[in-house]
Amino acid sequence: MLKKFFSTAFFVIFAIFITSCTTENGASSQNLASVPASETETPVIYTSFHAIHNFTQLVVQDILPVRVLITPGVEAHLWEPTAQDMVNIHYAAVFIYHGFGMEHFVDSIRASVGGSVPFIEASANVTPALQDADPHLWLNPLYALTITETIKNALVQLFPEHSAAFEQNFEVAAENFLALDLAYQAAAADFVRRDIVVSHGAFAHLAYAYNLNQVAIEGLDDHADPSPARMAEIIDFVQANNVTTIFYDEDDTLATAVANATGASVAMLNTFEGLTAGDYFTVMYQNLQALVLALS
Ligand SMILES: [Zn+2]
Repeated sequence: MLKKFFSTAFFVIFAIFITSCTTENGASSQNLASVPASETETPVIYTSFHAIHNFTQLVVQDILPVRVLITPGVEAHLWEPTAQDMVNIHYAAVFIYHGFGMEHFVDSIRASVGGSVPFIEASANVTPALQDADPHLWLNPLYALTITETIKNALVQLFPEHSAAFEQNFEVAAENFLALDLAYQAAAADFVRRDIVVSHGAFAHLAYAYNLNQVAIEGLDDHADPSPARMAEIIDFVQANNVTTIFYDEDDTLATAVANATGASVAMLNTFEGLTAGDYFTVMYQNLQALVLALS
């Protein structure tokens, strides 16, 4: 149903655009002039949400424009594209998304755009060590490295004229991903507590990598409110295991409720989905700092 709506909406808009460009010969150059130059000349790279935008920018820097569908501050899991988004993707040189169940809207965009735009699934080469439906693979720095490498390889194929710069930029990023992983490993070795209670269960792959035990208050990607029984269970867990900190990433209501009931404090653990801007390394070192405070 949704897919059909998007196909139809896109077709109608596209038909209007084509008509306006072809029926008025004299005005066609004027019409095209009103379209941003980036949509007619410079190839534009489109990305799905903040993490993928940032990883792509690590590779591309300012060589080509990199845009993002879901602007920072907008909830990524429940987002749906507009007809204008469909048009933007249609004119993109490539669309890069995370995959692994993160973007539910990709199939409807692909159906509308057809085969004219390459779609790159950035997580395609990640084989998670943990069998889990948690789509937030990028919160493991080594998976983020693989994701960025997949993006780089795709862009080198699509833009061979920039391959040397893309390879060089990726090498710098790769060193930073490896250093980040080592920093997490070193800190985790000294943790005296292993339980992380989080409002949004986005950290399964990070927790697995550094031998932590994630306990999530709400649903995995629908932000469904927990039942009173689940809240009671979480509160019991916090008290029984001397958990000192309840983590939130967007809305601190649930974390604060658990904290108030247990005497724990609240702190932010950023999922890097785009609730705030900023680059991956800054956010992940801030997250590490929060974990050190809570678990040491
Ligand atoms: Zn999420």
